[in-house]
Amino acid sequence: MTATRVIDGKAASASVLAEVSAKVAGLARPPGLAVILVGEDPASQVYVRNKARQTLACGLRSFEYRLPAATSQAELLARIAALNADPAVDGILVQLPLPPGLDPAGVLAEIDRGKDVDGFHVVNAGRLATGQRGLVPCTPLGCLYLLRQTLGNLSGRHAVVLGRSNIVGKPMAQLLLGADCTVTIAHSRSRDLPAITRGAEILVAAVGRPEMVRGDWIAPGATVIDVGINRIPHGEGGSVLVGDVAFAEALGVAGAITPVPGGVGPMTIAMLLANTVAAYEARLA
Ligand code: NDP
Repeated sequence: MTATRVIDGKAASASVLAEVSAKVAGLARPPGLAVILVGEDPASQVYVRNKARQTLACGLRSFEYRLPAATSQAELLARIAALNADPAVDGILVQLPLPPGLDPAGVLAEIDRGKDVDGFHVVNAGRLATGQRGLVPCTPLGCLYLLRQTLGNLSGRHAVVLGRSNIVGKPMAQLLLGADCTVTIAHSRSRDLPAITRGAEILVAAVGRPEMVRGDWIAPGATVIDVGINRIPHGEGGSVLVGDVAFAEALGVAGAITPVPGGVGPMTIAMLLANTVAAYEARLA
């Protein structure tokens, strides 16, 4: 039985946020982050509120645009064009998902690549894939931070990434490759997932399937990063958040694991603010 270390994402994010605050205090002007929310999605409203709160707490400027669900693609693109041209805005984030009728790829393509603090623009995705400097998606960046903090040098380790989305799985795999891991990417068409994951020294689960990864899918001593955020029914009429990994089963098997909540989640916003400062610095350079 392994004594599993539970990785504290809140503490790690607090230290990233402290670094961001210290850096911002020394800048000529506060970096600005603009967040656009289209429609009334309740989860998105909570995310946007939290982002604005943290942005201000770290000394950055926060610009928030709440647009009605009926906003047209042209209206949204006009807002982005105005923010691209605004010298006080260093980072632009369009909260996803967008309401039906709007084309997210078309919207993301119009964000100035130097202000693309979510790292979703194809130019930034291409830079990451080709090992060039660019803005990197926040959640995988947060996962890499936690892995480095837990394991130190990642070189030569076998990492398995479950999930191949453009916002988590693919950039995660690219970052691990950049850190000299041997990387396997698995997805919904992969055969015998447990056999694949059991070969992982590092396992990153980003599938959006509650507790899909069971304890016996994990190699003893492996480091497990659980990106999943799944709300499932719990008790009478209640609900609870769980990850993509069966946490209780992983305890005693994994060497280290991130909990849900309190693991990867807090890192995402910390990396968003770090990216905004990086975007500010790159624009001045
Ligand atoms: P997507 O739905 O875009 O992608 C899910 C991926 O998982 C796909 O590549 C899919 O494969 C794969 N998959 C789905 N079902 C299975 C299965 N049964 N077996 C193997 N692979 C499977 O999700 P995201 O990448 O956007 O998000 C993943 C999870 O991470 C979600 O729970 C989301 O809420 C969470 N998340 C958390 C964040 C945080 O801040 N902590 C930020 C972003 C996401 P295929 O490509 O073949 O369809």
